[in-house]
Amino acid sequence: MTKAVIRVLPTLTTPETTDGWRSRARCRGIDPVIFHPVNEDDADEAKAICALCPVQEACLEYAIAAREKDGVWGGLTSRERRRVIRRRRRSA
Ligand code: SF4
Repeated sequence: MTKAVIRVLPTLTTPETTDGWRSRARCRGIDPVIFHPVNEDDADEAKAICALCPVQEACLEYAIAAREKDGVWGGLTSRERRRVIRRRRRSA
């Protein structure tokens, strides 16, 4: 049985996010299951889509700020995002 995954693009209303990057997300209309692989090692398809997304950086920063725990955002898996957060903390 396929686990249903609901991916809701962020609805924040801060100046950086209003009407901006979400409307240009390359993943719009694409099956959200792709962005929630069962195993993080199976994230290649999502990462390939993100790699050509014009709002990859904004998406990644959103996911880091929102502490998104699941899925591929901005081309990174949750494990990879946690690494970025740790790296940023060390260099702060
Ligand atoms: S970077 Fe990836 S997850 Fe984020 S908006 Fe673009 S395609 Fe979607």
